Amino acid sequence: MVASGAAAGSSVGGAPGEEASFISALKSEVLTYTAMNGLLMLESSDEVGLVHVPVSLLPAMAVPRGLFEEVRALAEPFNVLVERFASDPVAIKETLAAAAKQDEFTRDLIRVYDAVLGGPRPSVARKNLAVNRSDYMMDQQSQRLLQVELNTISSSFGAQSTILAQMHRQILSKFDFLRQSHRGLWPGGSLLEESEDAASAQSRVPYQDTIGDIVDAFAAAAGEYRGSRGSALGPGGAVVLMVVQDDERNVMDQQILEQELWRRHGVRMERRTLAQVAEEATLGEADGILRLGDSREVAVSYLRAGYSPADYKGAEEWEARLMLEQSEAFKCPSIAYQLVGSKKIQQYLAEEGALERFMGKGEESASLRRCFASLWGLEDLGDPKTKEVIDHAKKNPHLYVLKPQREGGGNNLYDEKLREALEGEGDLSAYILMQRIVSPMHKSYLLRKGECVNADTLSELGIYGVYLCDNGREIINKCSGALVRTKLASSNEGGVTAGFSCLSTPILH
Ligand code: ADP
Ligand code: MG
Ligand code: MG
Repeated sequence: MVASGAAAGSSVGGAPGEEASFISALKSEVLTYTAMNGLLMLESSDEVGLVHVPVSLLPAMAVPRGLFEEVRALAEPFNVLVERFASDPVAIKETLAAAAKQDEFTRDLIRVYDAVLGGPRPSVARKNLAVNRSDYMMDQQSQRLLQVELNTISSSFGAQSTILAQMHRQILSKFDFLRQSHRGLWPGGSLLEESEDAASAQSRVPYQDTIGDIVDAFAAAAGEYRGSRGSALGPGGAVVLMVVQDDERNVMDQQILEQELWRRHGVRMERRTLAQVAEEATLGEADGILRLGDSREVAVSYLRAGYSPADYKGAEEWEARLMLEQSEAFKCPSIAYQLVGSKKIQQYLAEEGALERFMGKGEESASLRRCFASLWGLEDLGDPKTKEVIDHAKKNPHLYVLKPQREGGGNNLYDEKLREALEGEGDLSAYILMQRIVSPMHKSYLLRKGECVNADTLSELGIYGVYLCDNGREIINKCSGALVRTKLASSNEGGVTAGFSCLSTPILH
């Protein structure tokens, strides 16, 4: 049902006219809030025009409070896990060997990693800053949140999810009719108590200042860098280099961080593409100092690009990446962190004893394991267990997802395509097979380009973790805020910027 503006409402509850005016009031509140607070993105990559990011009008994902706290408690151990795995190059290369044989991109990343480890200053590989985001979907069968993946590179929407939580909290406190006459119009409404006051209703949408957590970590890394340089630091000071895609539309989520880093800490952020880094930056041979222009030193390289083969159009971009990795700057993330965030390593960690190799056999590993879905590697087709699961997946493709070594959405195979890939002759070493998580469907009001739709949707919850560590010396390890992405139930994948899904928030009960 399309309810654009004051168009007729659906028959979810209440009189149709009432619903239309309810939606229309919410919609104008949301349009105003998004415009005033930077919930915006470029309409297209070659335009200057901004449009609001796709959002749900109301908190879309109902999450039991206990489960929410459980996955939040995993953010810090996941940060530590990434650090420990990343400090073991043998483990990384062994785990990725078969995938690298088949997949050129994995091979290219490992080549850069090897060049750093075999270069003049291998310890720079361990100057790590992370904005990780662990994503979960609710598994209807077990009623648990299962991990979809752990993002270690370019985890986006940290900034805009913070603002969206504020928006949804404001809406719940301001529109008291949401708690009374219109409770039946949205799934979250039935969670609210009849007598619940505004303060209690809004506190159901968790809020944490992820913007602050991220920029504080950038500033701490820049402080560490300045400290280590002492009086040798050039007159241009130390900056954070944000590496971006040239056709990026999701610019506001990035620029909010740039603005806030300056406002809070007086630290400058410079945005460059990998091609621009290749052109403008220099790496001091003797000291490993990365410079932009003559004087500004790069204290942190923050990648919002570089996770996809398309970001490396040629040798220059790979050169630029190597330069970042070989420098004394903190890397958000380092190449090792990026590799540890890959699908193949996720699958390996689920194998018996693999997670425990890094996290021990205690309660911490047990609690991390509780969120793991079933995962299978496909490199050894002679293995009876692999044969068995492939046979089962060919007959029941809807129960599985086939994932390549890629990031950024739109790469996975489902249903018929999954069956075809398994039946084909191709080498699948760079793919993993994953249990398909079947989530409960729920109705949401989604707003995209000013058009409102009430639709059947599915939601995915992300929890941010911020981490700063210099050669094993942990400086920050912090669980940060939450992100919900809500997509049409009819779509397998949901990219927000690509237009498939909307930003939303959890509502706890
Ligand atoms: P990417 O790194 O490209 O984001 P993901 O593993 O997150 O890769 O997969 C992309 C999307 O595919 C997810 O956001 C989710 O919507 C869907 N998806 C991934 N894994 C599963 C799964 N096991 N069950 C159901 N849906 C999944
Ligand atoms: Mg990812
Ligand atoms: Mg993902």
